[in-house]
Amino acid sequence: MAHARVDIRRNDTVRVITGRDKGKEGRVLRVFPNDGKVLVEHVMMVKKNVRPNPGKNIKGGVAEQESRISLSNVLLMCPSCGPARIGHELRGERKVRICKKCGTTLDK
Ligand SMILES: [Zn+2]
Repeated sequence: MAHARVDIRRNDTVRVITGRDKGKEGRVLRVFPNDGKVLVEHVMMVKKNVRPNPGKNIKGGVAEQESRISLSNVLLMCPSCGPARIGHELRGERKVRICKKCGTTLDK
């Protein structure tokens, strides 16, 4: 990837902007910066066969699981105004992400 810096982090809320789940919003479960991918809760669900395991009380059958989507297919949501263009600002020693539209800090 040309852009190595990833501005999406775990527990961020993102909106899917393209593909099958376009328009869905969810929490970021994992970021894979080297692959440019994210795992978003309840997004890009795929069916997966699960083997029965009576020892763990698993019945087996088909389970649904998230699959990774490209970082370029999601936008970080600003809690105040919606899909954010991410900017950066120094707060003391710390660099935080801000929404360029309304100035809300996007980091907790
Ligand atoms: Zn905003």
